[in-house]
Amino acid sequence: MLGPPGAGKGTQAGRLARLRGIPKVSTGEILRDAVQAGTEIGRQAKILMDRGEFVSDEVMIGIVKERLNREDAVEGFVLDGFPRTVGQATALDTMMNGRSPILVVDIVVPEAELVRRLASRMICNDCGADVTAAADGARMAGDEGTAPTAPARCRKCGGSVVQRTDDNVAVVRERLKIYHRQTEPLVEYYRGRPTFWSIDGLQPTDRVAADLAAAIEAAGHGTVALGGQR
Ligand code: AMP
Repeated sequence: MLGPPGAGKGTQAGRLARLRGIPKVSTGEILRDAVQAGTEIGRQAKILMDRGEFVSDEVMIGIVKERLNREDAVEGFVLDGFPRTVGQATALDTMMNGRSPILVVDIVVPEAELVRRLASRMICNDCGADVTAAADGARMAGDEGTAPTAPARCRKCGGSVVQRTDDNVAVVRERLKIYHRQTEPLVEYYRGRPTFWSIDGLQPTDRVAADLAAAIEAAGHGTVALGGQR
């Protein structure tokens, strides 16, 4: 799942993973869990994440390699937030040797909308779910001017609702700058492949999910049921 921060990668990755019964591998979530657990990687990552900067390729590639080798990822997985650099993309290609080709989906959203979404995003402090995202259609792309509503507690686990420490406007601007410099080149890296798709992320969440399902079907990865959220 490619795309800038706020494009909806996490939301779509979560939906797709649930529909297909495969794990969602979100490197941002893995790092936030490490921060909460107080591990050495978490301690170092927090400093970088709070500035909007990237954790090193070496650390990220190690994390993803270990995760994709686990039993539950044998049948497939949805990657959210990785690769983010050309170095990570080439490492992923090596990891995929002997496995089915990856399907690359770039979710395209204009910058002004990204800033709006990120500044109002709220997540669950316990399970990490994006509670502003339209699990129930609460925040739909195109709802220009409508403040998204976040519930007082997470609907999935009842956890408390917080803003990500890197979702304040100054850090968001830095993250977008780094996205353009480091991650956007991946669009060119993948564009020539028959399994590359570009999707309009300004559409309502369900439309984005439908486009994603169509891309998967076209790529020969099988049919994804479009109905239902979970
Ligand atoms: P995300 O939740 O995907 O927006 O990621 C949050 C933060 O975690 C990013 O701003 C980076 O600091 C760090 N991060 C997540 N994934 C990666 C990655 N693949 N490479 C480097 N840093 C990452």
